[in-house]
Amino acid sequence: MDMEALFGELGRTLADKGKAAATKARDLTEAVQVKAQINSEKRKLQETFAVLGHLYYKEHRGENGHPQQGVFEAIKEGEQRIRELEEKLKDLEDMAVCPECGFRVSKEAAYCSKCGRKLRGDNGEEGSEIPALPVLEEEKNQAD
Ligand SMILES: [Zn+2]
Repeated sequence: MDMEALFGELGRTLADKGKAAATKARDLTEAVQVKAQINSEKRKLQETFAVLGHLYYKEHRGENGHPQQGVFEAIKEGEQRIRELEEKLKDLEDMAVCPECGFRVSKEAAYCSKCGRKLRGDNGEEGSEIPALPVLEEEKNQAD
C-alpha cells in the first residue's frame, strides 16, 4: 500500500467514525427526549391516581373497619397538621414588627415585648398583658 492509498484509507476510516459519532450523539439526544416524555407521562399518571385517591377517600372515609383505615388515618392526621399550621401562619401574619428591634409582636400590643418600645398612642386600648418595665413607666410619666 503506497502513501496515497494509506491516507485515503485513513480518511475513509475517520469519516466513518465521524458518522458513527454523529449517529451516537443523535441517539443520545433522542434518549434524553424520550426520558423527558416518560417522566411527563409518569407525572400525569400520578396526578390521575391522586384524583382517584381523593374520590375514593371521600367515598369511604366514614366506613368503620375499612381495609385502608390506616391510610385514612394518615390522611386525617395530615389534614389536621395542615389546619394547625395554617392557624399558626394566620397568627404570625396577624403580628406587627417592632420598628425599633424588629421583634414580631401582636398587633394589639401597646409595647414591644422585647425592647419595650411604645407601639401605640395612649388613646389606644391598654396592652395590659405587657409587663411594666421601669423604662415603660418612665415613658408613661413623660406622656402624662
Ligand atoms: Zn422592639
